[in-house]
Amino acid sequence: MLDHLGNLERTHSCGALRAEDVGKTVTLMGWVARRRDFGPLTFVDLRDRDGITQVVFNEETAPAAHAKAKDVRGEYVIAVTGEVVLRAEGQRNLKIATGETEVSAREILVLNDARTPPFQIEQTSADALASEDVRLKYRYLDLRRPQLQANLRLRHRVVAEIRRYMDEQGFTEIETPILIKSTPEGARDYIVPSRIQPGKFYALPQSPQLFKQLCMIAGLDKYYQIARCFRDEDLRADRQPEFTQLDVEMSFATPEQVYRLIEGLFTRVFRLVGAELTEPFQRLTYAEAMRRYGSDKPDLRFGMELQNLASALEGTTFAPFASTLESGGEVKGIVVEGGATLSRKVLDELQEFAKRYGAGALAWIKLSDETSSSLLKALGQETVERMANAAGAKKGDAVLIVAGKSKVVAASLGALRNEVARRERLIPENVYAPLWVTEFPMFEFHEDDGRYYAMHHPFTSPLDEDLPLLRRAVEEGETHLLGLLRAKAYDTVVNGIEAAGGSIRIHQREVQGLVFKALGLTMEKARERFGFFLDALEYGTPPHGGIAAGIWTNF
Ligand code: ASP
Repeated sequence: MLDHLGNLERTHSCGALRAEDVGKTVTLMGWVARRRDFGPLTFVDLRDRDGITQVVFNEETAPAAHAKAKDVRGEYVIAVTGEVVLRAEGQRNLKIATGETEVSAREILVLNDARTPPFQIEQTSADALASEDVRLKYRYLDLRRPQLQANLRLRHRVVAEIRRYMDEQGFTEIETPILIKSTPEGARDYIVPSRIQPGKFYALPQSPQLFKQLCMIAGLDKYYQIARCFRDEDLRADRQPEFTQLDVEMSFATPEQVYRLIEGLFTRVFRLVGAELTEPFQRLTYAEAMRRYGSDKPDLRFGMELQNLASALEGTTFAPFASTLESGGEVKGIVVEGGATLSRKVLDELQEFAKRYGAGALAWIKLSDETSSSLLKALGQETVERMANAAGAKKGDAVLIVAGKSKVVAASLGALRNEVARRERLIPENVYAPLWVTEFPMFEFHEDDGRYYAMHHPFTSPLDEDLPLLRRAVEEGETHLLGLLRAKAYDTVVNGIEAAGGSIRIHQREVQGLVFKALGLTMEKARERFGFFLDALEYGTPPHGGIAAGIWTNF
């Protein structure tokens, strides 16, 4: 028989009691995390979102409660009234905040029973976790786990801090519509059929991009939103069909203003987890990031930059390198400090890894007492040593080398750099290395359908000095120039993760038209899809720009 809650109220949470509370009569409510019977004494660990309190039922002093407590099982919901006492010396648990005290129960109400959960809520180690399928099926039980409770509460604090900060900075929180006409960001839209107009559909926003730009045209000046976005993309570990981002737009804004705003925001938010960021953040242009790190989201917690080895190979007759360099490709390497001890097996694994990113092979040089290298036979000792020198390697190090098209060299060495750092434990813990990557290319060419796509989105402005190139490309048919155009687009990268991305937008109707044309949209198609926006651009659109930052808390 279950009890009624009646008018009983909690006096404390299960994480609240401390030694100062000894002597108080308290009422706690929560879930039974664990029950242990020792004859005349029964112990129950009572859990709620704040923590765990040990409750003791004593047969001698509270026989009825003791008898009832014997029947409770894991995840039963109970209310307990009793007195706070100090735990006996030797039984204190200093690992938990409530570990000095316990509640000596006088009364217990069993408010609900529970079936045996499909997995243990109290997790003893990471490997004890149930499979993801089971965890998701019983998500409400998974979320009872203290770690997930803590994640959700941290997320709440992050969002609250964002709202405080944006308010202080003069931004207005504005909700934009969810049932909309498509706002393309490069993914597919989710669509919702209309009941009232059969055969017609709404799209769900991939982001509020056009709406926030319309807000600028409306003179709202500084907009933000904690925005839910929907993108029908292939799933990846860091990609969900729906996610939340802090979405920002500001009028008359320069990139510098956006950088300052976001640096201040990140600094405040990271403080919530005890991390101090250094402002201003470092900056790298896209070209430099690709050249030095092989990635547009470089992890700057460690060095291991890509080294160009072409100068050491001048005049080489070794066909794979010679033809690569002649045809405009690259030969580059990374230096693994202390890597001379890397085994053949590890080098083979790293080669397999590099191949996944398109590398034909991974060559290596190891500098121990003697120089050994996969290239020794082909190039001879002298050239191999020249390459090691050019890479800046010293005795005890290894150099890992890839030759090929610039794109392939960057992708494979960039990925290898992260992989080697992870394997060799070269990444310092509790360090955050934020940076801005700037001047992204405006367009990227897709080989499969032979046309250019917007790298950020089609509303991003080119650099002022590159605008003439856009005109020539579109008006004089010199399409290949599109590949050279740089955009006023920027990403915030933290520890190799793209944490935010945005741009200064096009605010002139004529330039927006050129970009649509560059993307292969006929005027007719452009009008059909974005007519409302093209019209809006003609009514006094201020220069504007913004950014969006994904909101998640498992950094
Ligand atoms: N709309 C972009 C995105 O969701 C962000 C931006 O350009 O502000 O990624």
